[in-house]
Amino acid sequence: MANLQLNDVTKTFTEDDGNEIVAVDDLSLTIEDGEFLVLVGPSGCGKSTTLRMVAGLETVTDGTISLEDRVIDDRQPADRDIAMVFQSYALYPHMTVRQNMSFGLEESTTMPDDEIRDHVESTAEMMGIEQLLDRTPGELSGGQQQRVALGRAIVRNPSVFLMDEPLSNLDAKLRSQMRTELQRIQEDLGVTTMYVTHDQTEAMTMGDRIAILNGGKLQQVATPLEAYHEPANRFVASFIGEPSMNFFETELQGDRLVHDHFEYPLSENVRSNLGDTTHVTLGIRPEDIELVNTAEDDHDFRTVVDVVEPVGSGNNIYLAFEGTESDSGELETDDSRTFVATIGGLRQVEAGQPAIARIPEEAVHLFDSETGRALR
Ligand code: ATP
Repeated sequence: MANLQLNDVTKTFTEDDGNEIVAVDDLSLTIEDGEFLVLVGPSGCGKSTTLRMVAGLETVTDGTISLEDRVIDDRQPADRDIAMVFQSYALYPHMTVRQNMSFGLEESTTMPDDEIRDHVESTAEMMGIEQLLDRTPGELSGGQQQRVALGRAIVRNPSVFLMDEPLSNLDAKLRSQMRTELQRIQEDLGVTTMYVTHDQTEAMTMGDRIAILNGGKLQQVATPLEAYHEPANRFVASFIGEPSMNFFETELQGDRLVHDHFEYPLSENVRSNLGDTTHVTLGIRPEDIELVNTAEDDHDFRTVVDVVEPVGSGNNIYLAFEGTESDSGELETDDSRTFVATIGGLRQVEAGQPAIARIPEEAVHLFDSETGRALR
């Protein structure tokens, strides 16, 4: 086991025309002994580049990477005590599963052959692939190849696992099954793991902690629940959660946040978080909005149901603040008027119906409109 540290790590690529791309920008991150850390963010945010630098497949432009307090930047990939699993599995097609799994051990250790064989067989058993040992990758399903790729990483008994979207080629059912299995194996082995995904569900369900990247910059490192409940900024708030948080641009006037289509009163206590900020983005998660029968106070808003989207366990209901209808009688559903609420159960709601949406103050998130920083 080992802890992995990235200190002020920057990676710059220079394109053919001389343009510089800062793929990773001053990233500092510690992955604790035995921790499962998920690096998550949209396409192009620098996740793979980060992982590749840790693996030694890419040089570091600035900063250092350390394993157990020793800088490893100058070590060859094979000398880093790190195993990487790729999305593409990267199995040797002409070798059997057994050969694929034992190859790394034969190359890099002085382990006797019979010990390697035992080790490969017990790992194969753990991964449920012992019956596949004599097949070649071409004779395996995607899910089986994926297990072999993982088994090949595990058999080396590394200090650190790096995984780059290892489940993204699997179908949804297998992916969710493998998610649980991977977590179990990682926990059993207690190996420090850095796992890259663009899928926030994967991040939320698998990570002990998640590190959210955007544009090469670290946005927040937190447990999944912290990132959900206390996002550091608007980017994290919008990235975590499905459907995404609703955002409204408002201006503080007296004790109210004033929006083009509604006014939201703030209690003294909540207002005190704003400091001097007057341009405030109000955020509310779809699952925190309630539909109620009667408006009781000014946190309840008259709306019209625009679209109902059934999602099995309930409905995503797109609502529009009440307002003028256009000449054609259609609702004017510009972005600033519509928002989504997730309502569980079998409640019957139909497009065109009026609805009263309750936006509870305790569930409201507030952000500085200019910087995106969370104010509450
Ligand atoms: P994805 O989820 O799409 O794989 P990512 O978050 O893993 O994305 P990276 O692959 O790390 O992102 O890329 C980060 C940025 O660096 C992107 O703008 C990408 O175009 C750029 N980049 C990556 N590798 C190179 C390279 N070899 N040369 C030039 N630019 C690169």
